[in-house]
Amino acid sequence: MTTDMSSLDPRIIARGREFFASISGESPSVFNKGWWTGKVMDWSMKNEDFKIQMFRFVDVLPYLNTSESLSRHIEEYFAADDSNIPDVLKWGATKTKIGGGLVAKVLNKTIRSNIESMARQFIIGQVSKEAVKGIKKLRKDGFSFVLDLLGEATVSEVESDAYRDGYLEVLEAMQKELSKWKPLEGGNNDLDWGHAPKVNVAVKPSAFYSQSKAVDLDGTAAGMMSRIEPIYKKVMEMGGFMCIDMESLKYKDATIELYKRLRTKYPDYPHLGIVFQAYLKCVDDDVRDFLAWSREANLPVSIRLVKGAYWDYETVMAKQNGWEVPVWTHKPESDMAFERVSKMILENSDICHYACASHNIRSISAVMEMASDMNVPDERYEFQVLYGMAEPVRKGLKNVAKRVRLYCPYGDLLPGMAYLVRRLLENTANESFLKMTFADEADMDRLLENPEVTLRAQLEGKTVPPEPSEGLARFQNYPIVDFTIEDERKAYPAAIAKLRGNMGKKIPLYINGQEVETSDTLDSYNPANPDEIIGSVCQAGVGEVDRAIEGASEAYLKWRDVAPEERAEVLLKAAQYLKDNMHDLCAVQILEVGKQWDQAQGDVAEAIDFLEYYARETIRLGEPRRMGHAPGEMSQLFYQGKGVAAVIAPWNFPLAISVGMVAAAIASGCPVVYKPAGISSVIGNGLTDMWKAAGLPEGVFNYCPGRGSVMGDHLVDHPDVSVIAFTGSMEIGLRIQERAAKVQPGQQQCKKVIAEMGGKNATIIDDDADLDEAVLGVLYAAFGFQGQKCSACSRVIVLDPIYDRFIERLTEAAHSVKLGPAENPANYMGPVVDKAALENVLRYVKIAESEGKILVKREVSDDLKATGGCYAPLTIVEGITKDHRIAQEEVFGPVLSVMRAKNMDDAIDIANSTQFALTGAIYTRSPANLEQARKDFRVGNLYLNKPSVGALVERHAFGGFKMSGVGSKAGGPDYLLQFMDPRLVCENTMRRGFAPIEEGDDWLS
Ligand SMILES: Cc1cc2nc3c(=O)[nH]c(=O)nc-3n(C[C@H](O)[C@H](O)[C@H](O)COP(=O)(O)OP(=O)(O)OC[C@H]3O[C@@H](n4cnc5c(N)ncnc54)[C@H](O)[C@@H]3O)c2cc1C
Repeated sequence: MTTDMSSLDPRIIARGREFFASISGESPSVFNKGWWTGKVMDWSMKNEDFKIQMFRFVDVLPYLNTSESLSRHIEEYFAADDSNIPDVLKWGATKTKIGGGLVAKVLNKTIRSNIESMARQFIIGQVSKEAVKGIKKLRKDGFSFVLDLLGEATVSEVESDAYRDGYLEVLEAMQKELSKWKPLEGGNNDLDWGHAPKVNVAVKPSAFYSQSKAVDLDGTAAGMMSRIEPIYKKVMEMGGFMCIDMESLKYKDATIELYKRLRTKYPDYPHLGIVFQAYLKCVDDDVRDFLAWSREANLPVSIRLVKGAYWDYETVMAKQNGWEVPVWTHKPESDMAFERVSKMILENSDICHYACASHNIRSISAVMEMASDMNVPDERYEFQVLYGMAEPVRKGLKNVAKRVRLYCPYGDLLPGMAYLVRRLLENTANESFLKMTFADEADMDRLLENPEVTLRAQLEGKTVPPEPSEGLARFQNYPIVDFTIEDERKAYPAAIAKLRGNMGKKIPLYINGQEVETSDTLDSYNPANPDEIIGSVCQAGVGEVDRAIEGASEAYLKWRDVAPEERAEVLLKAAQYLKDNMHDLCAVQILEVGKQWDQAQGDVAEAIDFLEYYARETIRLGEPRRMGHAPGEMSQLFYQGKGVAAVIAPWNFPLAISVGMVAAAIASGCPVVYKPAGISSVIGNGLTDMWKAAGLPEGVFNYCPGRGSVMGDHLVDHPDVSVIAFTGSMEIGLRIQERAAKVQPGQQQCKKVIAEMGGKNATIIDDDADLDEAVLGVLYAAFGFQGQKCSACSRVIVLDPIYDRFIERLTEAAHSVKLGPAENPANYMGPVVDKAALENVLRYVKIAESEGKILVKREVSDDLKATGGCYAPLTIVEGITKDHRIAQEEVFGPVLSVMRAKNMDDAIDIANSTQFALTGAIYTRSPANLEQARKDFRVGNLYLNKPSVGALVERHAFGGFKMSGVGSKAGGPDYLLQFMDPRLVCENTMRRGFAPIEEGDDWLS
């Protein structure tokens, strides 16, 4: 049976009015200003800066174990410069009459205990005994419950096991009590209300499998299932109900898949629910598909509909990654979707039980009216609200609907604080129904209005800002791949299969517009399986290098004088070629250098960014700049390309760094002789195809792979080379600088060397760091792409008080990741790039063993070893000090040194103690320590509370100093200038005492 919403609206509003009348004069306890929590909420809603500091402080509080650290953080968070701690925080302490002469210790204790009691408001108990006691009390008051165990951030399989065991423990505790619980109203068959199981738990699936990731849907669903299934079995044994909660979008598809697997495996047990989020734009399709599946499989289901708890997160992530925002962006749109999808579920009440989870009286009233209009039986729907929130709403619901279930989190205060922050944000958000109703006391008509009407009013008069009509649009980074999209997940295996059908061919050089074959070739192989040849690449000798430089020199004069806009156009066409061939280009990276899917996409995306960014930069720099303001004189500064550039590229970012250096030269007017690294020459050949597709004139780009020992010095020494752009090891970079300084016979120009030469990057872990973030951040920065990034974290410096906790979690996390070929998306770490790299890493592992104590040394399985793949062990070593070799020399592989620091000064001193200064990172929630790091942690790219890897063009313009390199930041505003010579032309515009006055002249006013 269906229902007509427009005719229902007056009834919904009338029902809402009745609801309001039934709770008139009541207010949720969180807004009660007679209590500390209410006062803090009030301040937070009035003062945005205080709100941010307060919520951040709540988040860090569980880590502040000493009174010194507690009082330092209170000072740092709340006492800006000369001001005092806000009175609201002192409230309660003054009430105890310790008053004016209050010593800091007492104040601090009061603040801590106030915040802890605020958290307790939303949490039913910290241990299972307390939880069961709390539930008993709720049941006595006539409410049923759904129990949720806090602690959803698991970084290792050990933690996921513990999370599962926590559930089993609380279920055991409930089982002992179960027989004593009388069914709620009308239940004569030991079921609440005559139809609902008394035991009800909610599970957050990602916590049950620490290796959950969107790219690996199948593995993620299987991993979640392995630990949730024992819980479900126990729930079934107790005749209970289990609901699978919905988390952030990246886990949505795996969660639905998990539900289907569980439901299909136990077809006769109907008490399994899942959550859908109305704030997602895809919610209608998802629920429709899910209901269709239920019908087709003939398996009744249960849906809890919520609006969604991660709105800010989803919006920020989408904006950061360049994705379409997946959630509705106007609040009434979420409300409309809630009503629309509720209708769809209620229309299917024969196969779908509905749990309406909202505190919004309009949304609730709409559901009530629709259900009544469609004659949905009571046992087919119920209402759910969060424990500790919206007491008037739950009371009103109980009066009218009877069937009210409270969602009750329980567990330690540590994860409890993260939950508390979510609830505080929800309650203080401007658009929150609860805030509008009980704090702002908004007009009832407005609160009960049809959201469609509200939306129309909000959109009225809003205009979209027009796109700039001239010139290129503002630079934006190419989006990071979104593996929640099924087509993306499918595209990678397909591209790899296509490549396999077409590889191993001979690849010629490309010199002055001609393909050139040589008898000397080098095979490039798959490091996961060295028998698999990706391509057989022709090798340039000195003769070919001479021809390439000759061709480039001939092209120079013409290309130098091409208008910047025209050069930019070629770069943009090249970027388009990469976009059009994204998956094929990724496949080559996955097989030739062992990049994981996301790492490969990141590399191609960065190449696109360089092209797009430098296209805009060459136009910007192409505009002559007037110097000075003197009348009678026109002085202008402008640039020209220096001459032929030799680009010597590394294998670790085989497309991105190659394209970056080559495109910068070409954008600046310098033709290029490009030497890719031997082991990534097939990827390097992609540049030939790219420039051909972009229509670059002959001679401006020359592809010259070759053996360094044969042609490397010759290329650098050549008198007609004006610029050398190099990225690679310090040894070779220094050698290039030395040789380039020597003037060769016939040389007309001093050579410019731009060299990026590596790092020994540190991450500092402060004693208040968020370890959920820090552990995963360090793991990713140290072992992503097998640690083969110049930005990789190779030293982690941990402050003494948090050392043991951090190391325990880090080592467990390192033991949890999967190792194996990069083409399998389940694997976190694959092979290093070739046999020589493997030998090098093994040599350093030996050094690590002799200098420190090995914490982790993970090898791949014997089966994988038998393939001959270049798998280096993931290694973590502790007991390292700044004098050790492993703390000073760049390894370029998966070896991480752990160093202990006494305090922040000591940590920064250790971090700065190498000859390199490339990247660095710090995890801290102390504002003062963030400031100290900004000032004293001296590296080219410093990341605060983020991993040290993953630089993006423009946003994180990249490059270091000291022995990490010479030259300005790649992907930054000064990079192209290095390929250009500035010229200045000054014209005397005065003739016989008459001078035209120009705009900008310093003329009489
Ligand atoms: C029993 C229960 C279980 C829950 N389980 C889950 C769960 O599994 N997964 C989950 O994600 N959440 C869950 N939640 C949390 C829930 O998502 C929030 O409590 C809910 O969104 C608040 O909505 P409301 O209808 O009570 O309030 P309202 O004030 O009407 O709605 C607030 C919501 O609107 C949305 N919103 C806010 N601003 C905008 C905007 N600018 N544009 C569009 N939409 C906006 C957000 O979703 C926000 O939470 C659960 C809640 C309950 C009561």
